[in-house]
Amino acid sequence: MSKDSNSKKREPVSWKKPFPLLPLRDIVVFPGMVAPLFVGRQKSIKALDAVFEKKGAIMLATQKDPSVNDPAPQDIYNVGCIAEITQILRLPDGTVKALIEGRERAKITQFHDENEMLSATVKAIKIDTETDPSIEALSRAAQSYFERYVKLNPHIPNETIGIFSGTELPGEVADVIAANLVCSTVEKQAFLESVVIKKRLEKLATKIQNEIEILQIERRVRNRVKKQMEKSQKDYYLAEQMRAIQKELGKDGGAKTEAEEIREKIAAAKMPKEVEKKALKELSKLELTPPMSAEGSVLRNYIDWLLDVPWSKTTRDKLDIKSAKKTLDEDHFGLEKVKERILEYLAVRKLVKKMKGPILCFVGPPGVGKTSLGKSIAGAMGRKFARFSLGGVRDEAEIRGHRRTYIGAMPGKIIQAMKKTGVKNPVIMLDEVDKLSSDFRGDPSAALLEALDPEQNQSFNDHYLDVDYDLSEVMFITTANLLHPIPRPLQDRMEVIELSGYTDDEKKNIARKFLAPKQEKEHGLPEGVLNITDAALKKIIRNYTREAGVRNLERELARICRKVARKIAERPGSAKKKTARLNKVKIDIKDLVELLGEIKFRDEVAEKEERIGVVTGLAWTEMGGSILKVETSLLEGKGNLILTGKLGEVMRESAQAALSYIRSRAKEFGLPKGFHSKTDIHIHIPEGAIPKEGPSAGITLATAMVSAFIKIPVRNDIAMTGEITLGGRVLPVGGLKEKLLAANRAGIKSVLAPKENEKDLREIPGNVKEGLDIKLVKTMDEVLDLALFKRPGKKRTSAKYKPRSKQSRATAVHRSALN
Ligand code: ADP
Repeated sequence: MSKDSNSKKREPVSWKKPFPLLPLRDIVVFPGMVAPLFVGRQKSIKALDAVFEKKGAIMLATQKDPSVNDPAPQDIYNVGCIAEITQILRLPDGTVKALIEGRERAKITQFHDENEMLSATVKAIKIDTETDPSIEALSRAAQSYFERYVKLNPHIPNETIGIFSGTELPGEVADVIAANLVCSTVEKQAFLESVVIKKRLEKLATKIQNEIEILQIERRVRNRVKKQMEKSQKDYYLAEQMRAIQKELGKDGGAKTEAEEIREKIAAAKMPKEVEKKALKELSKLELTPPMSAEGSVLRNYIDWLLDVPWSKTTRDKLDIKSAKKTLDEDHFGLEKVKERILEYLAVRKLVKKMKGPILCFVGPPGVGKTSLGKSIAGAMGRKFARFSLGGVRDEAEIRGHRRTYIGAMPGKIIQAMKKTGVKNPVIMLDEVDKLSSDFRGDPSAALLEALDPEQNQSFNDHYLDVDYDLSEVMFITTANLLHPIPRPLQDRMEVIELSGYTDDEKKNIARKFLAPKQEKEHGLPEGVLNITDAALKKIIRNYTREAGVRNLERELARICRKVARKIAERPGSAKKKTARLNKVKIDIKDLVELLGEIKFRDEVAEKEERIGVVTGLAWTEMGGSILKVETSLLEGKGNLILTGKLGEVMRESAQAALSYIRSRAKEFGLPKGFHSKTDIHIHIPEGAIPKEGPSAGITLATAMVSAFIKIPVRNDIAMTGEITLGGRVLPVGGLKEKLLAANRAGIKSVLAPKENEKDLREIPGNVKEGLDIKLVKTMDEVLDLALFKRPGKKRTSAKYKPRSKQSRATAVHRSALN
């Protein structure tokens, strides 16, 4: 469509007579527009013929509905365009192609249907051709918008841009634009009917701007789609090439490509659907990445992890309680109660196939057999075993892994342990749950909880793997030295089994029956070659180790084995002969210095004689129990409390409380008013391990101070533990079993313990209490009654406890001791 500027001169239009009418189905003709019309309706062809022969003009009006074949007056818009026909071409199928040129807007005032053809009486629509600068500006703006519009619109040929000759009046410009816009006939008709030029230009300008916006969006979308298509075509092309190259390289033996191998492994791994989908997706990414690139190795590493973690492989559980008992007995001496509870736990597991039960938690000092019990359980159940320590873990990522965006990211400890065992149902032991800590890098205990909690662990999410992993078949066992630092929510899901330290006798048995044979075997010595005398073993236990468990004992035995192995190796002759000649190697006390060096620990012994201000306390440390000597001396001074030795802050508070107690009872003790204000009290704890509990030294400190003030010595065969209140009440303490063991070791005869610990005492095995007079006390008065040789202020008691009458008093205590 273009404006034909060379239109021929014609007769001026006569408006008096009706014009033949040509209804148009889907085009609106504007003045100045040249367009071809394809005409098929008989009435229309007649109208064309009538006009063309007379070189007259024809009225063109658009139909409201293009599908109407024989339109009535109401089916046609009454504003149209008077046009001239410049050319007619009859086509072989009887239709006609006519070239027309629009001349003027006109309005139909009357229709005439004369059967043969349609005609209409019309009147010209007067257009105001006056212009002003604003119309001029509008017209120019519309032109420039139109140019942009043509450039953007792929349906309009670019030559249309040069359509304006620059001489057009604003009305003509508007008509040219309207004629060339791509829009509906309804909209075009509205432009035709818009008589006021300014309005028409404004409407057009808005319309074009809208269209431009739409076209711009379309263009952006088109570009994006195109780019994507280009990329995927390129990828496809490259992948095909790569495949071809790989095929070429592996052509001889039909060797599989790496990708094919991985694909087979993925299929064999029997992963859950989601995981398999992910693995395949990563594999297709890997195929498109250059193998030596950093990205390639990251992808490869990830896929390897997905393949290495067990998804379906399991071991079959042996849940025979009798054989489990046998395994536990074979591996461990004693621990009867612990073994009982483990067997009960296994029995329940046997009955309830998929147990959502609590997690076992072994609590006790180091070296008491927590780990080896875990291994035994795994062995008894026929499960694989793995362990890792949570000691010092403060970063959530250590449990749950780092996201893959990190360079060198790895799965967390749990998934690593799963990979190590290679099965879905191992026994995993988490050591030192009490040593977890948390900081700004997230709370590892929350992640741990998610892994351990049977309610949520079938979909454990490791950040590195980034797919859910089912941990519900894993049997978790945790270990800890102390119960109270374990985060509460974890504790709630645990079945706590406490293992306390061993007595010397138990250690001896463990050494003979388990540790020595084990070490002999590990050092290539024939079983039973070591003949350690009872006295030597006792010395090793007492003076070369100080522990609740037997770990160091085992180490010392290993040292002996090494020395013995060396001696044998240095003898002349073949290896076989050497061991054959060797019957037994006797090891007595005198050999120990040569084998193990000088002793490491002096005997913890009770004081040789009773002294003023010196008291033996009992403390609980991570290494087990130990005795705690407290020395007090009074110096001239200003009432200061001086504490030296390994005293914790809590211990200082206990000393303060003890002093306050003494001050409140000063009169009773026969102490003068302000007795402490000119005196400094120096409390010293000469040696020993750092006690875990400060408060339990309360009565020890108080006794030492009272003794120092009233100058009455404290019995040297007595040891005590208990917290003190300001009013002199004795409160319960923890770790009683370890403390009693320590008392036993040190040769203490009587122990003062809080009355409120009576229940705990009942649960402590008889052999630990053997040989000890245990006296349960409620008040500080009772403590002093029993511990001091002479109870001051109370004539009655001082008469009762005469100095140097130890023997008779010890029996008196013994009779009332608990059994
Ligand atoms: P924990 O995990 O409590 O620190 P371990 O399980 O590592 O202690 O024990 C240290 C060593 O002592 C192991 O070799 C273990 O077999 C041995 N052991 C501990 N208790 C016993 C026992 N009751 N019978 C036999 N061996 C024991």
